[in-house]
Amino acid sequence: MASNTKKKVFGSEEALAMVEELRAAFDCGKTRGCEWRISQLKALIKLSEEHEKEIVQALHSDLSKSETEAFVQEIAMLKNSSKVALKELKHWISPEKVKTSLATFPSSAEIVSEPLGVVLVISAWNYPFLLSLDPVIGAIAAGNAVVLKPSEIAPATSSLMAKLLGDYMDNSCIRVVEGAVDETSALLEQKWDKIFYTGNGRVARVVMAAAAKHLTPVVLELGGKSPVVVDSNINLKVATRRIIAGKWGCNNGQACISPDYVITTKEYAPKLVDALKTELEKFYGKNPLESEDLSRIVNSNHFNRLKKLLDDDKVSGKIVHGGKKDEIKLKISPTLLLDVPRDSLIMSEEIFGPLLPILTVDKLEESFVVINSGPKPLAAYIFTNNKKLKELFVRNISAGGVVVNDTTLHLAVHTLPFGGVGESGVGAYHGKFSFDAFSHKKAVLYRSFIGDASVRYPPYTSTKQRLLKALIGGGILGVLSPTCSNLPPKC
Ligand code: NAD
Repeated sequence: MASNTKKKVFGSEEALAMVEELRAAFDCGKTRGCEWRISQLKALIKLSEEHEKEIVQALHSDLSKSETEAFVQEIAMLKNSSKVALKELKHWISPEKVKTSLATFPSSAEIVSEPLGVVLVISAWNYPFLLSLDPVIGAIAAGNAVVLKPSEIAPATSSLMAKLLGDYMDNSCIRVVEGAVDETSALLEQKWDKIFYTGNGRVARVVMAAAAKHLTPVVLELGGKSPVVVDSNINLKVATRRIIAGKWGCNNGQACISPDYVITTKEYAPKLVDALKTELEKFYGKNPLESEDLSRIVNSNHFNRLKKLLDDDKVSGKIVHGGKKDEIKLKISPTLLLDVPRDSLIMSEEIFGPLLPILTVDKLEESFVVINSGPKPLAAYIFTNNKKLKELFVRNISAGGVVVNDTTLHLAVHTLPFGGVGESGVGAYHGKFSFDAFSHKKAVLYRSFIGDASVRYPPYTSTKQRLLKALIGGGILGVLSPTCSNLPPKC
């Protein structure tokens, strides 16, 4: 009896066998055809529509995510990504004609996007539906076979996706492997053609080291401390609502691009704090721990991590709003902290929860120094009506993405790349960038048998040398023919 209920082990052998099966399917050319890609993208839309209720329930079970957030920020976003890929696929797949130079005359050239092969997507728990399947859209659109490893920290969504993808997708080329570190480690031992990882920087290093063994390229979608700079010449009510929407309205701050901390001037801080308090109460009531619109903290580990940030001696007395906790329901109320020291715990790691420290400076320009002294964030936000300040911010702050006068919405613009820089990640996706992330850009040059200039070939007579020198020196050739590198030094 016991052996019947024993969980099936997924180890290195199983991982290798699975990759070999997928590679065989890929090598047959099954995933390359436009029809296959279209059918799989349509299947993703179909499963999202036909199982919307179960997806919402799974997200509620994993995170107490509200139905509105589940629909708008996960299901609708995924459907939209699939629709964009379906609409643009033929255009993305078409070879891109490019100019050639006189060195290859007569010729034509194009960039051909080819699938990479068999790819691995490892995703995180905070947007477990969207973050798992959005990269899969790119992998399918680009014509790859793909294995998805969802996060074990959102188990209801993980098992629902395994079931739905099993039922709706072509399982000869698309698989889901559920599990935690052991299963992921077994997958990481294999040779992949790309690994797309979403999660924290510590595990990203494990992923990159495993990928290096096979020279596998990676996309790493990571996090960081995304700042919000607030000027005093703004529409305070609108700014406040948008900060709240990006922080507590995104999975209660458990989102990679949620505002992590605010910087404003000493003079303006009290006004900003008052406005935040007023709007927070309007949105989530007098007892936000009871609000159905706020997600819970995902598990007790993360709850205790956040509790520790608040218990740090350096921030005692700095809480100006909230700070209430319900250890049973794993809820923490929206919490504002004013004037926290920069060497406090809360300012030394990504918060990823409902706590918002507000730092103050004498002049807003000082915020640039504060932001640039830390690792490069995934997003950076500024609220200002000062044109010069906007320009300075966009030019001088290095971040994955920047939004002026709002938060998080750049994620919804599929014509913008979404990804980090430095500690916040490597590579990008969304829209065409997803297709590109899973494609090789193959350079193709077409020549005919006419126009075979003898100047290219030995013996390199002085006449040929003079001609080549004139052509190259005059910049007429544009690029060097490879054989030119063999020319003697006097050439
Ligand atoms: P997580 O704990 O779900 O881990 C992510 C994945 O890594 C999971 O699939 C997990 O199984 C796997 N994993 C964990 N430990 C591993 C190990 N030792 N070896 C191999 N695989 C392992 O998610 P998380 O890391 O807690 O996610 C939160 C972080 O992700 C935050 O830093 C956040 O900013 C970032 N994030 C980034 C984005 C983005 O799009 N840039 C989106 C969401 C989250």
